Parts: sequence; structure tokens; C-alpha cells
Amino acid sequence: MRKGTLYVFTGPSGAGKGTLLSEIRKGDDRLFLSISATTRAPRPGEIDGVHYYFLKKADFENKISENAFLEYAGYVDNYYGTLAAPVDRMLEDGKDVILEIEVQGAMQVKTKRPDAVMVFIAPPSFEELAARLRGRGTEDEEKVQKRLSIAQQELKSIDRFDFVVVNDEIERAARELRAIIDARRA
Ligand code: 5GP
Repeated sequence: MRKGTLYVFTGPSGAGKGTLLSEIRKGDDRLFLSISATTRAPRPGEIDGVHYYFLKKADFENKISENAFLEYAGYVDNYYGTLAAPVDRMLEDGKDVILEIEVQGAMQVKTKRPDAVMVFIAPPSFEELAARLRGRGTEDEEKVQKRLSIAQQELKSIDRFDFVVVNDEIERAARELRAIIDARRA
């Protein structure tokens, strides 16, 4: 049986990665989203084991020392990381797996798994990104500022990705992402 493909979807917080991903996963039962671990507190409505594995800092650090992560990074005062074992199991089973992660982690995956398909999801403009982050209302202004300043750094890594999809309009951007996955499978 053919092994699955690993996709890395990266892009600044507020670029719309989550919305795009739920769009392209509709009706595609071969496409799986990896559930990350994080030390950040759950937002209202977020469920442990569904949106993230919410870990205490000490537990996250234990997993780092056990070498359990395919990649991990520090982002705005918290750790975020991908546990290697569940991803590898899905790939072995022939499933295609998407990691929705920030840039530092993406670069670690690119080094460790050169066959991963690297996709950068970009906002149409910096102003639009700022407006989306504030409109979402999930972070206070200080955290929004931190996310925006990280976004500026992240945009500098855009050249290191195989594909760049500009999320100007959900339907159009989702079609483009769909085309990347279909082409890879063909
Ligand atoms: P949020 O707090 O908005 O859920 O996520 C903040 C940032 O962390 C986003 O850019 C998101 O893509 C990234 N992120 C989520 N999970 C992971 C992960 O497992 N590893 C890394 N490196 N970044 C992640």
C-alpha cells in the first residue's frame, strides 16, 4: 500500500489556515489533520484531544526530553508541537496528514522530512491580517501585537515553501489548495 503524504500548512496567525483546512477536508476521507500539543490555555469551545492536546508546561517538557516531537516551537509565551507517533502511524496507513503549524516548526519538518509538501498560506495584506486578528476577538491587544510582529518575521520565510496560497477569498483559495493535493495524488 502507498504511504500517505505529509503536508505542512503554515502562515501567520489570522491568515485563515483553520477555515481553509476545514473547507478542503470536506468530503475528503483520506485527509487527516494532526492534533498538536500546546501549553496555551483552551479558548472557549476548544476541547482537549479535538482541537489540541492541552498540556502543562512540565508535561510538554518531558515529551521534549523523550524526543516525542516531530517538531515543536515556542510561540507567544507557549509551546506548540506535533507528536511524531500518531503522524507516522497515519502515514503508514496510507492516510494523507496535514500539519497546521507556525514557521519555526515547519522548517524543522522540512529538514527531517524532505518529502513533505510545504504550503504557505498568506493573507492578502498585512492590514487585512491585523483586521482579521482583531475581529476574531480571541486575543487581547497585547497578544494581537505579538502575533502581528511574529507574522512580519514569518512572511520573510515565504521563499522556503513549495507553494504559496493567498487567502484573499475562501472559495478561491480552497480551490487552489485542493489542486495542490489532487496534483500530488495524481
Ligand atoms: P493558536 O494559539 O492560534 O491556536 O496557534 C498559534 C500558532 O501556533 C499558529 O500559527 C498555529 O499554526 C501554530 N501551531 C499550532 N500547532 C502547532 C504545532 O504543533 N507546532 C507548531 N510549530 N506550531 C503550531
